[in-house]
Parts: sequence; C-alpha cells; structure tokens
Amino acid sequence: MAYDRNNIFARILRGEIPCKKVYEDAHVLAFHDIRPQTPVHVLVIPKGEYVSLDDFAAQASDAEIVAFTRAVGKIARDAGVADSGYRILANHGRDANQEVPHFHVHIFGGRSLGRMIGRE
Ligand code: AMP
Repeated sequence: MAYDRNNIFARILRGEIPCKKVYEDAHVLAFHDIRPQTPVHVLVIPKGEYVSLDDFAAQASDAEIVAFTRAVGKIARDAGVADSGYRILANHGRDANQEVPHFHVHIFGGRSLGRMIGRE
C-alpha cells in the first residue's frame, strides 16, 4: 500500500492538526489518543512515512527502529504504568481494522486490561 500523505497522523506531524503531545525526539512523536479506551491511551508514531508495522519493520533504518522501541518503553514508564502493567498494540491492515494508515503503537494502561483479544 502506498503511503497517503494526507492521513491524519501525517497532518499532525506537519502541525496542521493539534495533538496532546507526550513525547518527541528526532524520530518519534507520541500523543494522547483522541478517543481513549483506557485511563492511559497513548499513540506512538515514527516521523518517517510508514504505512504500518509491516512497512516499518521492512523499510525503517536501524536508528529509527531503536529510537522507536526505546521511546515506547520510556513513554510507558513516564506515564506511570511500567509497574502496574500495560499493553502495546499495533494494527496492520484489514483484519486488524487499522484505521489510520501511518504506523502507530497504542499504549494501553491504568486499569486491568482483561482478555488479550476479543471474540469475533
Ligand atoms: P487504529 O485502529 O490502530 O488505526 O487506531 C487509530 C487510532 O487513532 C484510534 O484509536 C483513534 O481514536 C486515534 N485517532 C484518530 N484521530 C486522532 C487524532 N486526531 N488525534 C489522536 N488520536 C486520533
């Protein structure tokens, strides 16, 4: 799938749409999800143009992948959920109902998260 430069996260990265930022570095931006599903619900995105985890894993540089992984850990720690526990989730494609075609990881926490996956 080709990257769509008009997707909502691309527009956030360009500053065209506001976000509630929690973290930023050279490769990564993180912000609160606009429709939080848990007390802590943060989205972590790379600044590079990657459609999904599949694209990111195949195409991103080692520096981007390292920065992203370290950022996810730091953001969860800073959000205060490293001790209580949290879940990270990345939707890729149709079966996962990926809504926004710019790679992102959800960090969910702040309460017991129940089953790992819902029944269809
Ligand atoms: P996904 O289904 O994994 O693609 O999830 C996309 C997520 O982006 C959803 O949880 C939405 O609530 C969230 N979202 C959509 N638009 C915005 C926005 N403008 N700011 C923050 N989060 C958003």
